[in-house]
Amino acid sequence: MNKSSTPAIRFDKVSRHFGDVKAVDQVDLEIQDGEFFSMLGPSGSGKTTCLRMLAGFDRPTSGQIHLYGQEVSSLPPYERDVNTVFQDYALFPHMNVGDNIAYGLMVKKVAKDERNKRVDEMLDLVQLSGFIGRKPLQLSGGQRQRVALARALINHPKVLLLDEPLGALDLKLRQQMQVELKAIQKRVGITFIFVTHDQEEAITMSDRIAVFNQGRIEQIGAPSEIYEKPASAFVAGFVGVSNLVSGDVAKQLTGQPQTFSIRPEKIYMNPANTTRGADMISVDGTVRDVVYLGLYTRYLVEIQGGIDLVVVEQNLKTTSMDVLSTKGQKVNLAWHKDHISRMGA
Ligand code: ATP
Repeated sequence: MNKSSTPAIRFDKVSRHFGDVKAVDQVDLEIQDGEFFSMLGPSGSGKTTCLRMLAGFDRPTSGQIHLYGQEVSSLPPYERDVNTVFQDYALFPHMNVGDNIAYGLMVKKVAKDERNKRVDEMLDLVQLSGFIGRKPLQLSGGQRQRVALARALINHPKVLLLDEPLGALDLKLRQQMQVELKAIQKRVGITFIFVTHDQEEAITMSDRIAVFNQGRIEQIGAPSEIYEKPASAFVAGFVGVSNLVSGDVAKQLTGQPQTFSIRPEKIYMNPANTTRGADMISVDGTVRDVVYLGLYTRYLVEIQGGIDLVVVEQNLKTTSMDVLSTKGQKVNLAWHKDHISRMGA
């Protein structure tokens, strides 16, 4: 098998059970070389356990893990071509930036000249040239994060595992690091496996995302696929805000009894009894609640069957007074037939 057709990572029916707890349950997964792949899911859904098994800190109860075609389930961490960046960075506080980054090469007894050259390359990559002599405590959170990244990349691993690496940063820095991290990944071309519970982060950075729920993968796909065509009610609810319509109301609106989801920003809101084209699904309702959020307004509209739909509208022409006065009004909601996602088969 040539390299291009061999996935970087393959999970074959991998499970990890702790007594009765099925932390990871029958997971099948293929990740391609050079992908930025995110494992997204709520706390306790099994993401970290998958990462730990990939790194070699834990072993599957059953199933197999392949790294570039090699079965590695029983190999110790140091015999795998992977490195991990942890949320707390795990830098050595008594060592300066240069020594922290060079640590992996020192352990491997790489000659000093070569070490220095590669540390310089890494400092350049993470834009920390000039910080080589500082101790971790003399750095900001974002700078520490970059040192941890440089330290993990200096050995040129084939796969880099990142466990909530931006979790400790404030929102603004986090958003900046998301862009930087993605740019660095593209430059080095290494497969990144990124664990996060933050859906926006996963959508911003990933080539593909696996959405985890209770030890299983609910859906794998490109960010746009996961967002626009969620395969289950869980994915629709966890990734962004979604309206779910089921039962008789679903049947009346779409002709089919299957539950469907529709995103709040895909819904048009107009005065009651507005006529719509045949390509639209249309329903009347009453505005129950209005939340003015500056950039946009969020409406809660009750339709037939006592179902509440969330609708968001940008405040293009409206003021807070205009939008707040819509509370209690009768309205018509409509959305394109193509914009719904049907749940399950
Ligand atoms: P978080 O986002 O909070 O880190 P996660 O999705 O990474 O969550 P895991 O850490 O993989 O979730 O945990 C999955 C499940 O396995 C949880 O219910 C957890 O309590 C359980 N678990 C993990 N490690 C152990 C262990 N060593 N012993 C017993 N149960 C464990």
